[in-house]
Amino acid sequence: MLAKIEELLQEVGAMTAANAEELEALRIKYLSKKGAINALMADFRNVPAEQKKEVGMKLNELKNLAQERINALKETFENQDNGAAELDLTRTAYPIELGTRHPLSIVRNEIIDIFSRLGFTIAEGPEVEDDWHVFSSMNFPEDHPARDMQDTFFIESHPDILLRTHTSSVQSRVMEVSQPPIRVICPGRVYRNEAISYRAHCFFHQVEGLYVDKNVSFTDLKQVLLQFAQEMFGPETKIRLRPSYFPFTEPSAEMDISCDICGGEGCPFCKYTGWVEILGCGMVDPAVLEANGIDSKIYTGYAFGMGVERITNLKYKVKDLRMFSENDTRFLEEFEAAN
Ligand SMILES: [Zn+2]
Repeated sequence: MLAKIEELLQEVGAMTAANAEELEALRIKYLSKKGAINALMADFRNVPAEQKKEVGMKLNELKNLAQERINALKETFENQDNGAAELDLTRTAYPIELGTRHPLSIVRNEIIDIFSRLGFTIAEGPEVEDDWHVFSSMNFPEDHPARDMQDTFFIESHPDILLRTHTSSVQSRVMEVSQPPIRVICPGRVYRNEAISYRAHCFFHQVEGLYVDKNVSFTDLKQVLLQFAQEMFGPETKIRLRPSYFPFTEPSAEMDISCDICGGEGCPFCKYTGWVEILGCGMVDPAVLEANGIDSKIYTGYAFGMGVERITNLKYKVKDLRMFSENDTRFLEEFEAAN
């Protein structure tokens, strides 16, 4: 056994390795559980008692030498790999990289924030909906184009089930379980069967609002929307309402804000009108109130709805809608500062 130990001492003393893999092979050969030195350790109990001291010392010497040599070789490799000579130990640690919020989340949160301060609470509902909550309860006539496959994603095996085309379905769900006063905003993702281009996508995000109570008037609606526009786009912002048509409101209007690029003078962004459209609104059609279990002789209400993408485009001048869902980090990181 002593002879074997001497032999290994020679071997270990002379060992070299050209790279980390070779070094690892040496470590396994000598120092691993099934390595040569452990094998000798296992044999140690068979050594006659009078030789135990001498063999034991030699064995320890071998083990220590092997460990030392391998550590020394390892160090030379590590120095080569990392250029440790140039390592600046006084340098501060790398900062932890923070994620950035998605621009649509930033703007949605801002919208929610503004309406929360005006007394609105948040309501949410399912994205996969039934015809009643999306269309029928919202006073869509049977032959309305939105009910066509061209415009809406239906579930093939269940023609009554579809991907909601607006978050009005949430308004319906709120009204069917509660009585006025109701003052909610419904943020969420909606889907429409549209060809994807720079100005249209098959999904986008909305925030809709609903206020139902006694004596709610169009003036209240205009006031709350003016407040919103000025908080969102600055205190100088002006609004104007143009008559429009939606199945669920009567009268209906579309709202423009004064163009914040030219200040209303006219520029390419506002197509030289001085105004840009931002949302649709109106007084809730009494038929909608009735369909959802609210007495339209006692209560009136207003509703409005805006696209989060639209507001984000106006705020950050994003020209291509597809940017929002392409997950290009170069685009997304631009919004870091707005966190
Ligand atoms: Zn303009």
